[in-house]
Amino acid sequence: MIPSVINADEKRLRQVLLNLLGNAIKFTENGAVKFSVEVIEIDVLTTDYPCSTIRFQVEDTGVGISLEELQKIFLPFEQVGDSYQKVEGTGLGLAISCQIVEMMGSQIQVESHYGQGSKFWFDLDLPKVKDCVSSAVPHLDKGSNHIIRYKGNQKTILVVDDVADNRAVIVNLLKPLGFCVIEALNGKEGITQAQEYQPDLIITDLEMPIMDGVHMTQNLRSQPEFAEIVIIASSASVFTLNRIQSLEAGCNDFLPKPVQAEELFAQLKLYLNLDWIYANSQPSIEITDNVNEEIIFPPATELMNLYQAAKAGYVMGIQEEINRIQNLDHKYAIFTNKISKLVEDFEDEAIVEMLKIYLN
Ligand code: ADP
Repeated sequence: MIPSVINADEKRLRQVLLNLLGNAIKFTENGAVKFSVEVIEIDVLTTDYPCSTIRFQVEDTGVGISLEELQKIFLPFEQVGDSYQKVEGTGLGLAISCQIVEMMGSQIQVESHYGQGSKFWFDLDLPKVKDCVSSAVPHLDKGSNHIIRYKGNQKTILVVDDVADNRAVIVNLLKPLGFCVIEALNGKEGITQAQEYQPDLIITDLEMPIMDGVHMTQNLRSQPEFAEIVIIASSASVFTLNRIQSLEAGCNDFLPKPVQAEELFAQLKLYLNLDWIYANSQPSIEITDNVNEEIIFPPATELMNLYQAAKAGYVMGIQEEINRIQNLDHKYAIFTNKISKLVEDFEDEAIVEMLKIYLN
């Protein structure tokens, strides 16, 4: 069985999968793109911890890659095949994805037949995670900025979703911060729970049996006591139509699934006017290695691209910005050296932290 929580570098894994999925979609005009995740071995002992070997695979029925071209696709700036399909790409994605997967101790494999389609996959040995609750929020425990509570009275949140795992994601994020979280399995139950508990905010799935999120929202909005209540629709659907329908039904906002903690917290702050209380820890990175070497930061306007690139984990983008800033003025050399060192160690989170402290 696929573990519901794994311990991996979330940002990098997502980056690689988005690259493979993006390519598969880009190079498939007809047919299908299939993404699968499969446990191929359990209790492997490659490290001190028992791991499961998990295969991530993206298969398409697209244009395919010829044998000759297959040798080149992992090289930087290589784009093979028909020129009209090269427009959007940079030819860098696979080169970077390869580097990342190698750092994770594996290799991207490929099988492709020209005119028939391609299959890309890699196997990762990932440690088992026993405690789902604490593992659902690890990235909030890092660094100096993690939220531990909020100011003011306790707020009640109603979560309406027929899938227990989806409700659990939100419950596990909110309960530790002191929210009272009520659950409902469909729209009808949602209305009953709302009447009983008078929540401050409702987060609802859209597609559910018995009564869906759109009908629940319309029903609640027609009752004077819920005319103003904040309702956030949450769905994995990528169709704009679902978003529009939910807003038309009276939802205040939309939260894409899988729910990301940062987005959830941003919406709660906005709609409940919350003041978060942060842990009092010190910044985890030192800005200077040596007190005699004072870093001269470029002006904030020159740092925005670097900040965005670091946030996206886009290594090449960070490097381009380092080069650009280096050419602005020699006095930024200590700054660019520091960033170069961090990017070499793939410490893009640390770059974000460093810039955040300065930009604030
Ligand atoms: P790009 O940014 O151009 O997509 P990548 O490094 O991700 O760069 O891919 C390099 C090249 O490999 C692509 O330009 C394309 O020619 C080929 N390629 C990658 N994935 C596929 C695929 N699923 N089907 C066909 N060709 C692919």
